[in-house]
Amino acid sequence: MEKKSKPPFYVTTPIYYVNDVPHIGHAYTTIIADALSRFMKMSGREVFFLTGTDEHGQKVEKAAAEHGVDPKAWADRVVVRFFDLWKALDCEPDFFIRTTMDLHEKGVQKLFQILLDKGDIYKGEYKGWYCVSDENFLTEDIALEKDGTKICPDCGRKAQVVSEETYFFRLSAYQQKLLDHYASHPQFVRPQSRMNEVTSFVRGGLKDLSITRTTVKWGIPVPGDPAHSIYVWFDALHNYVTGIGYDRDPALFKKFWPASIHLIGKDILRFHAVFWPAFLMASDLPLPDCVFGHGWWLKDEAKMSKSKGNVLDPYVLIHAMGPDPLRYFLLREIPIGLDGNFSHEGFIHRVNSDLANDLGNLVSRALTMIRNYFAGTIPEPGPEEPADADVRKAFEETKDRAIAQYESYALNKALEEIWAFITAVNKYLADNAPWKLHKDPALHPRLARVLLTAAASLRGTAALVAPVLPGSAQKIWEYLGESGSVRDVRFDLLAFDSPGLGQAVRAPEPLFPRVDLKAFLAEETKPAKESAMDEQKPLTPEQPSAPQPPIPAPPVVPAAPAKPLVTYDEFAKMEFRVAHVIEAVKVEGAKKLLKLRIDLGTEQRQIVAGVAETYTPEQLLGKKFIVIANLQPAVIRGVESQGMLLAAVAGDKSAIPFFEADVPAGAKVK
Ligand SMILES: [Zn+2]
Repeated sequence: MEKKSKPPFYVTTPIYYVNDVPHIGHAYTTIIADALSRFMKMSGREVFFLTGTDEHGQKVEKAAAEHGVDPKAWADRVVVRFFDLWKALDCEPDFFIRTTMDLHEKGVQKLFQILLDKGDIYKGEYKGWYCVSDENFLTEDIALEKDGTKICPDCGRKAQVVSEETYFFRLSAYQQKLLDHYASHPQFVRPQSRMNEVTSFVRGGLKDLSITRTTVKWGIPVPGDPAHSIYVWFDALHNYVTGIGYDRDPALFKKFWPASIHLIGKDILRFHAVFWPAFLMASDLPLPDCVFGHGWWLKDEAKMSKSKGNVLDPYVLIHAMGPDPLRYFLLREIPIGLDGNFSHEGFIHRVNSDLANDLGNLVSRALTMIRNYFAGTIPEPGPEEPADADVRKAFEETKDRAIAQYESYALNKALEEIWAFITAVNKYLADNAPWKLHKDPALHPRLARVLLTAAASLRGTAALVAPVLPGSAQKIWEYLGESGSVRDVRFDLLAFDSPGLGQAVRAPEPLFPRVDLKAFLAEETKPAKESAMDEQKPLTPEQPSAPQPPIPAPPVVPAAPAKPLVTYDEFAKMEFRVAHVIEAVKVEGAKKLLKLRIDLGTEQRQIVAGVAETYTPEQLLGKKFIVIANLQPAVIRGVESQGMLLAAVAGDKSAIPFFEADVPAGAKVK
């Protein structure tokens, strides 16, 4: 009977902003994509997994200028952080797209031109709130202040209403078409709650979308009108087609487009579920099967964000244990549509209980017994008894159910199914007590049967967990004496019995050493390495133009321990205020110290600051900077200091960030 061939599978992550330091949120999306990609490959499907970086825009331009390099050179330097992290997490995209690549820029310009010719893009006037100091339009979602103005979120200054010439995308023309598509494709947006959100937003009416800026220089120029740059969303979203060969490799594009699943954080749902399908409809391209908005990882019930200081550095979690425990935890703990709370206790508990105890011990016990009792080669076994047949049956059922869960993107449930089987096999070994069978040579055929059943269970388990635990699954595979790679297993051919199984069993090493929570937390709170941004990193090689180039693989930076994480509550206890310097003198006999009298609005105080090697007292007089106002007073060289100023320190030099804007003394800084 001829088998129907399975459709190709195309999975994407959002392209991450290249200026960002990758954190657990980036890691989460990419790990989901990687696990799905590995699963679909093992299901016999042709797979394309795309990730990448968004490299245009003002923030990149600004950071580059601050470092005295051009924006592309800056992007080349910092993009390495993403290459490094994906390698460290065992994530293997088929292509890493960067929006500064020629193949992307050309594709975006071509699509822009098509829509312009069609009349879906037209020139008009954009009116919006603009920050003169940052040369940037504020996003529409920023609320009006009481006085009817808007405040720039980046610098805190008042914004002004400014109009500029811009190109619009005729989004308003697609309202009904989008609603029709949602109605006929109820799985287009998942989970269902997000679909409801999107539908009601579109029902509320769609305005045409400004998609170019004359104020942002670092972007893709509008074809024929280079004073305009194509704005972030029109540029970035099209990576999903340029990355798969749009207008460049028709065969590749035809094979994989439309995408099977766009994985996104729920904060960028509107762009992916409204703007993106409208762009595609306008260019007559088919729509993706599914936009899946995953939840956020929270820390202490708050969304992780840089401003809250509760961002988790993935390296801290993987440097001691490798990538598999983190991959397992993130995928096992919650369904991908919901928010999850990250706690170190929860993480370590999963590692110890599910990985070290359940799976790790099973591998170690079963294989050690095969080594000890039969020198690594299981002899001819006795007949299968009902208890053995039950394990075989449990495996077949587990396999079917786990595969069905993987296929519906319910990775946590797939893992639940597999772990129920692991528990059953542990119980089977306890019930059949091979260590007792071993004592009586007459029972050795029975012993061989029990250990063969255990080995077959482990072999099947290794294959089923391979999408989530690729490194550990391969180790189990090799310990069992299997040849080749577990990733080459095809699920439809995966049987419980395997000729040659248990004939060359190797001594296992502990897969998941138990982690002591106290020791882990202590390790985790050691000082962190400096941001990779400040390091001289190797530049990436010339950008490839072929569709599936290997990702440049710079050496993985050994993860350094981080500063202790503070909770948001701890952070909120600190009081930062604007200090105005009203007196400044040197501290006698201390060449580094200045004694400052500062005005905090409601009171005056004296502080001692170790900045005298960089600043003279005169240079500080009249200046405003940030102090931590509720630090316990300290006596420094006999002088009392009631607070501390904040400054960057490098060697003997220091640099105080002064306020340029006119802020009142004592104003809160948060
Ligand atoms: Zn501003």
